[in-house]
Amino acid sequence: MLCNQCPRKCNTDRQNGSYGFCGTPNTFLIARIAPHLWEEPSISGKNGSGTVFFGGCNLHCVFCQNRTISHTAQGKSYTAEELTAAILHLRESGVHNINLVTPSHYTLQLIPVLKKIKPRLGIPVVWNSSGYESTETLRLLEGLVDIYLPDFKYCSAKLSAEYSAAPDYYPIALAALREMLRQTGTPMTDPATGLLRRGTVVRHLVLPGCRKDSIKLLHTLAKEFGTNAFLLSLMCQYTPEFAADCPHKNLHRRLTSFEYQSVLDEATSLGFHGYTQDASSATSAFTPDFSNGNSH
Ligand code: SF4
Repeated sequence: MLCNQCPRKCNTDRQNGSYGFCGTPNTFLIARIAPHLWEEPSISGKNGSGTVFFGGCNLHCVFCQNRTISHTAQGKSYTAEELTAAILHLRESGVHNINLVTPSHYTLQLIPVLKKIKPRLGIPVVWNSSGYESTETLRLLEGLVDIYLPDFKYCSAKLSAEYSAAPDYYPIALAALREMLRQTGTPMTDPATGLLRRGTVVRHLVLPGCRKDSIKLLHTLAKEFGTNAFLLSLMCQYTPEFAADCPHKNLHRRLTSFEYQSVLDEATSLGFHGYTQDASSATSAFTPDFSNGNSH
């Protein structure tokens, strides 16, 4: 079957050795399976989130901190049966959820895996994506995903074209978020543990030189969905070393505290709830080590 499952619509035959924009075959490429402690507190908890990092990506942002696995589709090959077994094994380590990281280009391949594991998990499934996803494909995940954790990167078509080769990012991500919210409803947290059981958390990374676009995005999201439909995770962890060869000079420096604070002030005055980041997280020490594959 030709692959058109994401907004790139490559119409390529991944089963027979052809590669589309995401650069991945039909079988799973997995770069890391391990508990991860650096997601939002309601997702990582004290035992960690059970992350499964997929190789390849359908977006290829110039500043991607996981570029070693996303731009060149690195990872060990897994069949659906092997991935099912690995996820169930990871669950035994006591993680609070199963967190599928950059899974969008494997959505159709993941559906049978999720159908098999969902009744046996007893913990939420987290869909941790770039937000650049087809609404029709997302609809197929209804009942299989408990928590959506999408990025919402840009408002501006110029920025999304220059940084992610996706001039249509904003309307696509907006429609995708609408579908995610339809599926999950408003966030529900376990009062005893503080862990998120269901809902959507929208991540936005403030980029150097782009704070006006961030503020415009916050206003648009508030107008479209209100400020209680999802939790907002406002991030400042941008690290220029991942964009060293990038032609955009503003991406060669760190975010200033003024830039981050001005976006944070706007989010607060609009009435958003969620998570902020400390400037100390703007370091590559928080980037997972993909040389160490599986550590569960
Ligand atoms: S999943 Fe990959 S091959 Fe399929 S349409 Fe998207 S980018 Fe293209």
